[in-house]
Amino acid sequence: MSEIENVVIIGSGPAGWTSAIYAARADLNPLCVIGVPKSTPSIVLPGGQLMLTTEVENYPGFPEGITGPDLMAGFQKQAERFGSRILTQDVVSCDFSTKPFALTTSGGETILAKSVIVATGATANWLGLENEMRLAMGGGGVSACAVCDGALPVYRDQPLAVVGGGDSALEEASYLTKFASEVFVIHRRDEFRASKAMQKRIFDSEKATPVWNKTVLDVLGEDSITGILLKDTVTGEESTLEVKGMFVAIGHTPATSFLDGSGIELDSKGYIALHTRSSATNIEGVFAAGDVADAHYRQAISAAGMGCMAAIDAEHYLAT
Ligand SMILES: Cc1cc2nc3c(=O)[nH]c(=O)nc-3n(C[C@H](O)[C@H](O)[C@H](O)COP(=O)(O)OP(=O)(O)OC[C@H]3O[C@@H](n4cnc5c(N)ncnc54)[C@H](O)[C@@H]3O)c2cc1C
Repeated sequence: MSEIENVVIIGSGPAGWTSAIYAARADLNPLCVIGVPKSTPSIVLPGGQLMLTTEVENYPGFPEGITGPDLMAGFQKQAERFGSRILTQDVVSCDFSTKPFALTTSGGETILAKSVIVATGATANWLGLENEMRLAMGGGGVSACAVCDGALPVYRDQPLAVVGGGDSALEEASYLTKFASEVFVIHRRDEFRASKAMQKRIFDSEKATPVWNKTVLDVLGEDSITGILLKDTVTGEESTLEVKGMFVAIGHTPATSFLDGSGIELDSKGYIALHTRSSATNIEGVFAAGDVADAHYRQAISAAGMGCMAAIDAEHYLAT
């Protein structure tokens, strides 16, 4: 490591690697702190959320599609080609009150930096069931992103389930009605939390059916999902719902806990608050990119675009 880094990039998803490509090509010699591999696959890994998906069909430049891990391996290779340096550790805390900034890693190192790009993503929340993760990792019909996966051939004209009752769950369900034969919306209460407008879309749809007062006990199927084992939250009765896909839509958790006490402004949901049309945070010299600062679009291409913006913003900051 240099004595004081020009730019430290935290995160190795589409946003982090794109920042690295741009920063390295601008001769900033970036240091990428990519995160430590975790034993629980449901939390964000080096390579980011796309490591959890088999088919990526909507990333431009790959007309036949590409697997998430292959896409991320390509990002990394391109970042390394231009000289990005890699540190396989987590950042556990940040001190942005001094210049240079000081970052502490899980290995106990302190990294000093003139500028920092936070690209730590947001983890989709999962139910925490063993078979759910097994089928999600193996492309077995379990996903946490309808916009990403709903159009895949495997889901077309099939009965699907969405788990959740908030706005994003109903939005995912509504999106899936374009492709599915029917969409069951499994909710643990007897009314949705979502806005009235979103609820109306579901109630008006011929394809969507709310499944009230149910929690998911297990996901059934060997190589691909065949059904969901449900438990009634009122009677305790168990039942099986036969579906060919399950979309978990119970929210996302932005990876910002390591910023506690750093002074970085977060919004009400815990995402990093950005200045309009820029990657600048409330702290000069600290930039953010990708899902960690974007609760809305949450796509690989939008995260990569924000990574490009953050590197250009950091370069301008360092030049002034
Ligand atoms: C199941 C699933 C399927 C998807 N499919 C698609 C798809 O087909 N097409 C599409 O466009 N999008 C898809 N998405 C969405 C896409 O994965 C995300 O929008 C994208 O990965 C966001 O990129 P990011 O770089 O902002 O964050 P992430 O990809 O989440 O990467 C975050 C990175 O930060 C690192 N990190 C976190 N905390 C720390 C820390 N404290 N210290 C160091 N490193 C840290 C992690 O290791 C990781 O490398 C899918 C998402 C899911 C969950």
